[in-house]
Amino acid sequence: MKFGIGKKLIIPHFIGITLLLILVIFSYVTLNSFSSIQKRNDELSNRMKTISDLHTNMHKVLMPPNDYLITGDKKERENFANLVTETASIFEKMRLIGRKTEEEKAIEDEVRKGFIELQKKAMVLLSTENPVGNKEAARLMKEMDAFGETVAGKLENLHKIKMKEIESHNKRTSDINKWSYGVFTFLSLSSLIGIVLIYTLINRGITKPLLGLTEAVKIISEGNLDYRIKIATGDEIEMLGREFNSMANSLKGKINEVTEHSEKLERANRQLDQNILQLYTLYNISKTLTASFETEKLLNQIVESVSQAMRLHRINIMLVNENRTDLHIVAGLGISEESMDIRFNFGEGVYGWVAISGQAEVVNNLSEHHRFKPVHGIDNDVNSLICAPFKGRGQVIGVINAYRVREVFDEPSFELLIAAAGQIGMALENARLFEETKILSITDGVTSLYNHRYFRERLEEEFERAKRYKRPLSLIMIDLDFFKKYNDTNGHPKGDELLRKIAELFKREARKSDIVARYGGEEFVIILPETLKETSVVMAERLRKEIESTVFEGGETQPGGRVTISLGISSYDGSGTIEEFIKRADDALYCAKKDGRNRVCV
Ligand code: GH3
Ligand code: MG
Ligand code: MG
Repeated sequence: MKFGIGKKLIIPHFIGITLLLILVIFSYVTLNSFSSIQKRNDELSNRMKTISDLHTNMHKVLMPPNDYLITGDKKERENFANLVTETASIFEKMRLIGRKTEEEKAIEDEVRKGFIELQKKAMVLLSTENPVGNKEAARLMKEMDAFGETVAGKLENLHKIKMKEIESHNKRTSDINKWSYGVFTFLSLSSLIGIVLIYTLINRGITKPLLGLTEAVKIISEGNLDYRIKIATGDEIEMLGREFNSMANSLKGKINEVTEHSEKLERANRQLDQNILQLYTLYNISKTLTASFETEKLLNQIVESVSQAMRLHRINIMLVNENRTDLHIVAGLGISEESMDIRFNFGEGVYGWVAISGQAEVVNNLSEHHRFKPVHGIDNDVNSLICAPFKGRGQVIGVINAYRVREVFDEPSFELLIAAAGQIGMALENARLFEETKILSITDGVTSLYNHRYFRERLEEEFERAKRYKRPLSLIMIDLDFFKKYNDTNGHPKGDELLRKIAELFKREARKSDIVARYGGEEFVIILPETLKETSVVMAERLRKEIESTVFEGGETQPGGRVTISLGISSYDGSGTIEEFIKRADDALYCAKKDGRNRVCV
């Protein structure tokens, strides 16, 4: 059976109140008993005193008559009267004292009557005028003595009765005393047991569960939300415990929610960080990519910045070869020199496969990958690889490979490299276009030789160099002979054709270090760095002869039946300006023309 705290408290209260009531009743009864005993005691002792006083007076009252009989002194009458008054007052006292038995009352009556009788006799004796020697008076005296003895005897009787009563009263008092002690001891023990019982009941029913609850609440409040309060007292404390349990439960739920929420936030934050890092990396890469249009420099910068941004152990870029059957490494970090010569066939290994499929691959356990074939000096000791293709004009033109020796790549790294690869494709395409444009800008459209502008640039460079380092430099200026006539006879397109063929011949005959350019119209120039006048004359003469001996279509209608050229040479002697240097070649050419054409003038 289960009780609430209120009901639990009723039992100790009931025990306490009952004990208190018993104590009060007992005290009342005991005090009452003691007071009535006391009262009775007083009464009995008073009575005993009156009996004793009366007994004494009974003898005293006989003394004045007796003395009167002997002395005849009338003063004895007065003494007697005083004693009678005294005795009467004792009788009055005796009459007033409380409870008496019938026997006592009878004895008292007899004594009173006896005393009156005695008084009468004494009065007779005392009224005798000459008592001394009076026989009647002496007889009366004797009667009075006898009578007095009888009355005294009755009083002694009464005394005895009272003595008995006192004895029985004393016995009763002692009994009551004993009983009181017994009851007092019993009640004391009962109170002690009652107090222990009350303490136990309150302790077990209320204090202990409350302490348990306090302890449990402390554990929960310290953060142990899995802890559950186990109190089965069936009262308000158990209810409180259950409430705390459900509070801990819902707190746990809330904390889980908050934790989940903050984890989500953290994930989102990490994602944001990744995105920022990715954007920043891409920004850096694109900055690198737009910084240069020179392919080789560009590729080296790409591997540098991607490697840094992605914390790679190794990186390389492979380009698809012209025939589109294989790839080779063009730039890299942490790879061996020899690996630059290796060809990776399309469709073979991870690289060859990515080049064909155009889809990036991430491999986080390379040795177990079905396509992977380790290549010494590149990837034989790495664990993870991302191979991302990049495109130019719609097709894969290469792949970028990122390696980590032990760590693996995560999704953001994969996406970052794919994004970077896209940029690389665009950058390489831009570089290619730039290269093409650059070539176009310095190339002559008809002859494919360098144009006048490029000639000027290069001549300035070479002139400066020759001047500064005092190196030899020569310039040959060439003009076709009677080209107007050729045009007129064969038509302008044929004239262009001839210009192209002659340009080819010059290019073929010139050294690699020489710069052959179209000066304008049908005039050409050849810059010969590190070349002395003598050598340039030999070179010019060789060209002249070569043209002269070559049969060009339509050449037969030219004067002399063949196509010829005139050449003027200028060699730098360490003095003069570049304009003077050109002019000297021009002058020499003019001289050659003037001297009859098809010749070399210096
Ligand atoms: P020479 O130099 O021997 O004194 O006689 P020429 O006939 O060659 O005289 P000139 O150098 O003055 O003539 C140049 C001619 O070259 C004029 C022009 O018709 C022709 N010519 C110039 N540029 C081109 C060109 O790009 N294509 C063609 N087909 N002809 C050109
Ligand atoms: Mg000319
Ligand atoms: Mg000419």
